[in-house]
Amino acid sequence: MTTLDLRTLRLRPGEVRKETLDVELEPFVLGGQRYDFVPSTIPVELVLSQASGATVFDLSLRLHLSGACMRCLGFAELERDVTAREFYDPEAPVGDELHSDYVAREHLRVSAWARDAIALELPDQILCRPDCAGLCPVCGKDLNAEPHEHLEREPDPRWAALEGLREEL
Ligand SMILES: [Zn+2]
Ligand SMILES: [Zn+2]
Repeated sequence: MTTLDLRTLRLRPGEVRKETLDVELEPFVLGGQRYDFVPSTIPVELVLSQASGATVFDLSLRLHLSGACMRCLGFAELERDVTAREFYDPEAPVGDELHSDYVAREHLRVSAWARDAIALELPDQILCRPDCAGLCPVCGKDLNAEPHEHLEREPDPRWAALEGLREEL
């Protein structure tokens, strides 16, 4: 867990400081599939500034995840810039917007914050490409490699016979 000790910052009002921390991120498991960070340790840039009363934390990182396409199970990856902002005023009550949930005992929990910020940025589906055709619901083959359709099955002759009966009634 990467944390930043806020007691050592001693920011003066108006002062801005940048810190880059290497944060190790555990894979995400989404829809039963595992998505790994590439690489597993990524630089997280923090900009810390002192506004009146509260410290402002700005986080930015470049997300790169790889795993299985949610439609065809082929290789998929996701790259995205992630940013987030938190405030911390030691006087503000817990639960207040100015009392970041990621500050505990004067330490900013950078790993937990980065992970939550990433989770908010994840799309509903991670795909190999936006128009991935997925797997055939009938035979399970990859429709990207082998585009095909199945002809509708001929109606069962027994149903046809019943239809005939009904017409007679
Ligand atoms: Zn796909
Ligand atoms: Zn098929």
